[in-house]
Amino acid sequence: MKPTNSVLSGLPTTVFTVMSALAAEHNALNLGQGFSDDNGPDDVRAKAAEAMEKSNQYPPMMGLAELRKAVAANGKRFFNVDVDWTEVMVTSGGTESLAACLLGLIEPGDEVIVFEPFYDSYLPMIRRAGGIPKIVRLMPPLWELPREDLAAAFSPKTKLMILNTPMNPCSKVFRRDELDFIADLAQKNDIYVICDEVYDHLVYDGQRHVSLITLPGMRERCLRLGSAGKTFSLTGWKVGYVSACPALLGPVSKAHQFLTFTTPPNLQWAVAYGLEKDDAYFYGYRDSLQRRRDMLARGLSDIGFKVLPSQGTIFVTADFADFGFKGDDVAFCHDMTVKAGVTAIPVSAFYEGKGPDHFVRFAFCKKESYLEAALERLAKYYKR
Ligand code: PMP
Ligand code: GLN
Repeated sequence: MKPTNSVLSGLPTTVFTVMSALAAEHNALNLGQGFSDDNGPDDVRAKAAEAMEKSNQYPPMMGLAELRKAVAANGKRFFNVDVDWTEVMVTSGGTESLAACLLGLIEPGDEVIVFEPFYDSYLPMIRRAGGIPKIVRLMPPLWELPREDLAAAFSPKTKLMILNTPMNPCSKVFRRDELDFIADLAQKNDIYVICDEVYDHLVYDGQRHVSLITLPGMRERCLRLGSAGKTFSLTGWKVGYVSACPALLGPVSKAHQFLTFTTPPNLQWAVAYGLEKDDAYFYGYRDSLQRRRDMLARGLSDIGFKVLPSQGTIFVTADFADFGFKGDDVAFCHDMTVKAGVTAIPVSAFYEGKGPDHFVRFAFCKKESYLEAALERLAKYYKR
């Protein structure tokens, strides 16, 4: 038998699937994979149901104009992102946006700078597109941007960078001075930046999300990604979008037309409606997540975890070094799932090679009663 693709054949199944399956097998409360235990906003779901009665054939390849307009308007309203609606393309989730950007922009041999820890699709998709990842490592507990390492990662072959802010899994929100530093390097080295901003609406404590595309000189270099899955807690819908100038969106749309071509039209209609909701929806959802973050963080600290600050996203990272557990974060998450009945994701899964080994990521996008039940189980097991 001839070998199958060398990048993809050897890959393990994603950690999110592995941990969710382990949680199900052991009836554990799942604070691993980032999804909610509710159904998303009633009115947005009702719009999807209504649209299903009349809109079931191929929508336009670039997405419904109504949704593209809503994405552009929402970006302008909340983040001062100035893009024309024709510069927006709808994709099947942020994951497809990422794949389309990488396939559309990378030439074999191009170098791509990525910050570690990273969302797990980044490296395989860079490599499958023929790119060479250049990894810049951020480490807990501070997750500071290592400026010298970043500057040193550039070479004449650098084509692209992926910047994820707010950042999964470490919940870092890049500060304006860090973004200025990145923008300056991007311009000096003449590169493009895929701005993975799927958690843009989920920034806490009065801090603001700043999109790199709004910085001087970055408008023609950035591709900004978003996801209705995160903004409306409808992760299964897989409605995403990418905004970029025509010179960048053109090749990305050529990848998209052969990856998925389109995204279900009823979901597009509903997300267009959702993105036009009042400010109160977006701030209300954010504030409710902030309360749940605080509740989970307080509970985990009481149990003995050292909880790191979570500035954004739906995740909180906790250090279990004080537990005296003999084993790494993978073993810890396995033990916690099987014996305590609560699942989290080992942070080392977001690193290539040896990463930090005593941090775990908990998702707090669950009902308060669910978080309470999880904390009770953890207290019972760890406070013996
Ligand atoms: N980027 C990051 C950083 C993520 O955490 C996720 C999570 N799912 C995605 C992209 C993909 O988003 P989607 O579910 O819309 O494909
Ligand atoms: N982004 C989600 C998380 O980090 C999971 C995405 C997935 O399961 N593919 O938990």
